[in-house]
Amino acid sequence: MRQRHKPWADDFLKENTQLIVPDVKTKKGKWKEMFGNDNPIHVEIGTGKGRFIAGMAEQHPDINFIGIELGKSIIAIAGSKVKNAGRYNVLLLHVDAADLSELFAENEISVIYLNFSDPWPKKRHAKRRLTFHTFLEQYERILHPEGEIVLKTDNQGLFEYSLVSFCQFGLELTEVNLDLHSVEDPENIMTEYEERFSAKGQPIYRCRAQFS
Ligand code: SAM
Repeated sequence: MRQRHKPWADDFLKENTQLIVPDVKTKKGKWKEMFGNDNPIHVEIGTGKGRFIAGMAEQHPDINFIGIELGKSIIAIAGSKVKNAGRYNVLLLHVDAADLSELFAENEISVIYLNFSDPWPKKRHAKRRLTFHTFLEQYERILHPEGEIVLKTDNQGLFEYSLVSFCQFGLELTEVNLDLHSVEDPENIMTEYEERFSAKGQPIYRCRAQFS
């Protein structure tokens, strides 16, 4: 997601450290303390502008959500959305998801959402895809044994690649949906990309996978 630098983003991050958490590596294993309760923690990687995480947090007040996003201006937009919605069950991390094992302890997370992740279509960039086996190794470490990965995308190539990658890694697919919007589902919170692509008539794919 390209986003021009927003001059207010630096100040927003500095002034909202209760929401966009600094020094994230010192919080490894302490995320329940950070939320101040024992509720399960769900992580969205590549949160974008925050429509999904803000909506999920409202729909599920008994779940804690952590959004990870590389783009500074993008996470500032997500932050202002969450702040305006008055949600206290969301924390945002302005970091690269490549370092997940440094952010979370073993079994600390219940669900990982991969929403419209960058597809990296060139073969030589395969290791950057968030479903490349090195990412799956990290997800396995930080996910609770009964935890799951939920992936949504409009990109057929990334979807097919991810299904194969999950199966080769030994994950069990508990859902493979080739047209998520063919049936109305009030539980499905759309992301910004999902809104955009489904408005163009593109099918949205979703799968769920578990390690055990
Ligand atoms: N999930 C949002 C949606 O569906 O509207 C945004 C999708 S956008 C295609 C992908 C987002 O993932 C971008 O905002 C990008 O900055 C972020 N991203 C990509 N790789 C990342 C990484 N390694 N760590 C954290 N964020 C990442």
